[in-house]
Amino acid sequence: MEQLEKKKMYDVTVIGMGPAGLAALVYLLEAHLNVIAIGPEVGGQSDNTPEITNWPFIPTLSGKEFQEGMIGFFENLQAKFPEYLYTVKGLIVSTAEATGKMFKVTAQTIDGEMVFFTKAIIIATGAKRKNLPVPGAEELKGKGIAFCGTCDAPFFKDDTVAVIGGGNTALENILTLMKYAGEVIAVIVTDDFTGNPDLRQRVTNLPNVKIIRNTEVLEVIGSTKVTGIKLRDMKTGNEWEEKVDGVFPSIGATVNSQPFSDLVETNKLGEITVGVLGETSANGVWAIGDVTNVPFKQIGIATGQGITAALSAIGYVESLPSTSPCEECAEGSPSLKEKILTRQKQEEEFTYPDVTDEQFFQEVLTRAGETLLMVRIEGCGDCKAARPHFLKAQKRFPSMNFITIEWEKNPEVMAWLNEHEKVRAAPTFVKISSGREIDRRVDMQRPKEMIEALTF
Ligand SMILES: Cc1cc2nc3c(=O)[nH]c(=O)nc-3n(C[C@H](O)[C@H](O)[C@H](O)COP(=O)(O)OP(=O)(O)OC[C@H]3O[C@@H](n4cnc5c(N)ncnc54)[C@H](O)[C@@H]3O)c2cc1C
Repeated sequence: MEQLEKKKMYDVTVIGMGPAGLAALVYLLEAHLNVIAIGPEVGGQSDNTPEITNWPFIPTLSGKEFQEGMIGFFENLQAKFPEYLYTVKGLIVSTAEATGKMFKVTAQTIDGEMVFFTKAIIIATGAKRKNLPVPGAEELKGKGIAFCGTCDAPFFKDDTVAVIGGGNTALENILTLMKYAGEVIAVIVTDDFTGNPDLRQRVTNLPNVKIIRNTEVLEVIGSTKVTGIKLRDMKTGNEWEEKVDGVFPSIGATVNSQPFSDLVETNKLGEITVGVLGETSANGVWAIGDVTNVPFKQIGIATGQGITAALSAIGYVESLPSTSPCEECAEGSPSLKEKILTRQKQEEEFTYPDVTDEQFFQEVLTRAGETLLMVRIEGCGDCKAARPHFLKAQKRFPSMNFITIEWEKNPEVMAWLNEHEKVRAAPTFVKISSGREIDRRVDMQRPKEMIEALTF
C-alpha cells in the first residue's frame, strides 16, 4: 500500500471524533499543542440518537441537531487553529505502537497508508452495536436485520418489526419504529425494560407495540430476507415463531479498541481500563468515552472524560524534554503540510454523486456497462463511513459507473429495487448491469472488502 506520509511528529494524536474526542481537542488546541485528529466522521454515535433529553442545560435536542452542532464546533476549531490542527477525515487508525518515548501510528486513508509519530495519544474510538449471537443473525444483516432506528425505520413502513433488548437503545428504537411500522414486537429477556424511567413510561400502552417478556431469541428466520424469529419463553420453555419483516438487535455495543490491543490493557469486554484521569496502562496514552471501562456510556460522561484526559495530556507533553527524541520525525516538512491541506480540501469538496429518479431510469438502466449504486439516507453514520471506500473504488475503476441515490428523494427507484428484493438498510450497495440487479450487499463491518468484491 502506498506510504503517503512518514516522519512527522505531533504532540498529541486524538483518535475518534465523537463527543469525547472533540471535547479533548478543544482543550489541546487552546493550549497550542500540535494535534492530529483522526476519524471517519465528526459526531460519532450521536447521529443515531433520535432525541437527547439528558444533555445538561438544553432540554431537548435531536441527535441530528447535536451532531450538526459538533460539526460546526469542529469547523470553528479548524478555522481558529489552522497551524495547530491537522485532520484527515476518512482516516481509520489500524495500529499504534510504542517506540521508545513516542508512538508510531499507522492509519488507513482512502489514498493509502499513513504513518506518523506522536508524543501522546488520546483514544476516543467509542463503540458499535452488537448483533444477536443466534443462527441467521449474521447472514440476514442488511436483509431485515438493522441496528439504527433513526436511519432505517423508513424502510419498514407498515411492516412488523421486532426490537430485541430492554435498555435505552431498545426503547429509543421502539419509539422511532412505532411511527413507521404496522406493529413493533419488543422482546425482552427480563420482566421489564431496564432503560431510563422516562423512556419506559413512553413505551407503555402504545397501540402498535406488543411486549414479550422473559423471552429469548433462538433464531432469525429467512433466506434472502427476514421472515420471522424463533422465540423461547424462559420461564415455561415454550418455543414458538413470530412472523416479522425486520429485526433490530438493541443489545448493547462492542468497543472499538482492537487497534490498540497490543498497546494498552483491556478488560474481558475489550474496554480499555483507565484511571480517574483517563490514563491507561501505557505512559503517554489516555482513553476516553465509550471505549473505556467507565460504566456509564453517556455523552456528558464522554465529554467530561475528554476534558480531563486533555488537561492531563497537556501537562504530560509540556513536561517532556524540549528536544525531540527523534530529530528526523520532529522536523516535519512544509510540503507535507501543504499536501495534507490540499487533500483535506479535495475531500471536503467531494459530494455524493447523486442521481434523480429520472436519471436512474433514463441513463443508468439503459447503460450497457456496470453500475455500482449506493442507496443512502441523510444523516446515516454508516453511509458516511462507507463513502471513502466508495470514492476510492470510483477512482480505481473508471470504466464502472458509480452513483448514489438518496432514498427519501427517489421513491420510484426504491420501488424498482423493492421489486427484486427489499432494500432494508442504508447504505445498501447494488450492482446493476444492462438494466438488471446482479449483486447486492450490505456489510458495514467490512465496507472496504464489500465494495472491492462488488467492483471485481
Ligand atoms: C441509539 C443510541 C442512543 C443514545 N442516546 C443517548 C442520549 O440520549 N444521551 C446520552 O448522553 N447518550 C446517548 N447515547 C450514548 C452516546 O451516543 C455515547 O455515549 C457517546 O456517543 C460516546 O461518545 P464517544 O466519543 O466515546 O464515542 P462515539 O460517539 O462512538 O465516537 C467514536 C468515534 O470514533 C471513530 N472510530 C472508531 N474506530 C476508529 C479508528 N480505529 N480510527 C479512527 N476513528 C475511529 C468512530 O467512527 C466515531 O466517530 C446513545 C447511544 C446510542 C447508540
